[in-house]
Amino acid sequence: MSSKVYFADLRTTPKRNLHNKLDSLLENVGIRERFRKGHLVALKLHFGEKGNASYVRPVFVRRIVERVRETGGNPFLTDTNTLYVGTRGNTVDHLRTAVENGFDFAVVSAPLVIADGLRGASGTPIRVGGKHLREVSIASEIVAADGLVAVTHFKCHELSGFGGALKNVGMGCASREGKLAQHSNCSPIVDPGGCVACGDCAAACPSGAITVGTAAVIDKEACIGCGHCIAVCPEGTIKVSWDESSGRLQEKMVEHFEGAVKGKSGRCVYISFVTQVSPACDCYGHNDAPIVPDAGVLASIDPVAIDQAAADIVNGMEGFRGSALRSGHGPGGDKFRGVHPSVDWEVQLSYAEERGLGSRDYSLVKI
Ligand code: SF4
Ligand code: SF4
Repeated sequence: MSSKVYFADLRTTPKRNLHNKLDSLLENVGIRERFRKGHLVALKLHFGEKGNASYVRPVFVRRIVERVRETGGNPFLTDTNTLYVGTRGNTVDHLRTAVENGFDFAVVSAPLVIADGLRGASGTPIRVGGKHLREVSIASEIVAADGLVAVTHFKCHELSGFGGALKNVGMGCASREGKLAQHSNCSPIVDPGGCVACGDCAAACPSGAITVGTAAVIDKEACIGCGHCIAVCPEGTIKVSWDESSGRLQEKMVEHFEGAVKGKSGRCVYISFVTQVSPACDCYGHNDAPIVPDAGVLASIDPVAIDQAAADIVNGMEGFRGSALRSGHGPGGDKFRGVHPSVDWEVQLSYAEERGLGSRDYSLVKI
């Protein structure tokens, strides 16, 4: 059955700015019926790594907070700690980074809660009975929340082709244990013929898994599959034996998604900003130039439909030459493969649909 995805483009007038359009999106997904007095509502965000600037702007998040609060719900902003060592690897660093990136109470009008505890160890096992995992470990405060609003910056991703609602919730609501379970099959491979032994990958590796002699060598036992080395290699010589392992990662991500929304039926809303579509995720301390023009904002109660719609919108546009996009520039070209050629991004959509989490068939309703 076709799902509705609401779309606000970026055209505005003096009487209708983007905040007003965001209100309309929330009205259309029935925000008033989703939450009620006393509900603790998690707004799942990515606060951005320090130095990154493509995450969703705090002023838009505040608007969503205000609309959720009008329902009687009690919103809080949340994310989980990262697997790798960066500026969001524990709750203290994470909160400091979030505030420095603009997610201060004075701006967003809601408290910040890092959902998996001080060091990412606070997970609750949730039974899903998936193809790969019978049980997944979800950040405890996500499990404890009554409802969820996933506010997603839609962009490319080196592990899943793109990062949309399924990834924001599936990976982003997992505890450290859950993230490791998703990444466990994703060790990259170095093509020694292409390696110039610059050492950038070893410097970027959060787990000390790379040694560089005449060429870089990855210790698969120590690798946590974060993909950072792939992004920093100037020669493009680090790859993942993807087709199977990326597919498995995406399917495990979907199983974690299922665990994160379990028990919240009818109380989940997905909002995706298809703006600043960068070639990699917001976990890096930089964001490379977008690969396509800004498109707008989507909203739906179907996480599969919203991701499919966002992917179709991105692929339907003319890609920017001179960006990280290497192929598929024309309208209809596969932009995600144009950046991450060996990743089959459709796996997450087809598996999520197979698991009954939503529909790839959608109708786009322009508001
Ligand atoms: S994916 Fe690369 S950067 Fe990440 S842990 Fe493995 S070797 Fe290190
Ligand atoms: S970043 Fe690339 S070129 Fe440099 S040492 Fe690592 S694999 Fe070799």
